[in-house]
Amino acid sequence: MLNGPFVIELPAFLLGLLLGSFLNVCISRLPDHRSINKPRSHCPRCNTPLLWYDNIPLLSWLLLHARCRSCSQPISYRYPAVEFAFGLWLAYVAHTARILLTPGLATNAFAGHVIDAISFAVIGFLLIGLAVMDWQTYTLPDAFTVTGIVIACILVCCRAIFLGPHADEVLLHGQNPLSSPGNVVDRGNVILTGPEHLVLGRMFAIVCAGSILLLVRYVYLKLRHREGVGLGDIKLVAMIAAFLGFWPAVLALFLGVVLSSMYAVPQLLRGRATATTRLPLGTFLSIGGLIAAVAGAHLIAWYSSLM
Ligand SMILES: [Zn+2]
Repeated sequence: MLNGPFVIELPAFLLGLLLGSFLNVCISRLPDHRSINKPRSHCPRCNTPLLWYDNIPLLSWLLLHARCRSCSQPISYRYPAVEFAFGLWLAYVAHTARILLTPGLATNAFAGHVIDAISFAVIGFLLIGLAVMDWQTYTLPDAFTVTGIVIACILVCCRAIFLGPHADEVLLHGQNPLSSPGNVVDRGNVILTGPEHLVLGRMFAIVCAGSILLLVRYVYLKLRHREGVGLGDIKLVAMIAAFLGFWPAVLALFLGVVLSSMYAVPQLLRGRATATTRLPLGTFLSIGGLIAAVAGAHLIAWYSSLM
């Protein structure tokens, strides 16, 4: 019964629609530093509070033919698009978490997979939100980026608790041959335990990934005397590193630069933009981060195999 198709994906999709509706509230209010719980949801044009049945994700927008019931002004397609996008994201997270249904899974492994799924869901929520906010307002609020870094650090610490015995352990300095991997009683061997390796490695990843973009920002400021990379973009890349690690963050950065060039170059050629036109870099970095979260491990393994 539990192995039937869509048995966990469908509820996850519906939950994703509801959370996507909350994400829309964050997207509308955070860039202007407005509260996300007060006032209640209302039409942004006529300020009429929404009735509960006009606030159902996806459905209300369709039933109202994308127009407000009170003022008949159009409702942006952004609302259903964000809801649908996060619904799909959560359905995909649920699909990857199907391993949890395996009978007889050890407690450590079960807890580890649950934390991975939570982390995967949270990064999708934050990156979809940041992509839309930067596109519409050129802002990447700390309420998403800095909070994201903190949440990711907490999740990594939780993940470290549930590492299996000797998993992820590294021999830093060996003087004596180890009788078995993970044997810490050997005299003179210096070993980084799995939890230390995971947590310290992730802290290092945050600093290094942020520093790359900080350096680009510094060089750009020196050469062009204006801001090319915002501090928000740096916090965003640090956040991706906090959730995914160093190399996936570098991949996200690379994809972000490629995508923003694909967007900007045709506009420059057609004369619709100049070299000083502002570009929502955070949007492309977020899309790069989403791709890195879904396919990063495969893409990095494929690239390493070419070396
Ligand atoms: Zn209205």
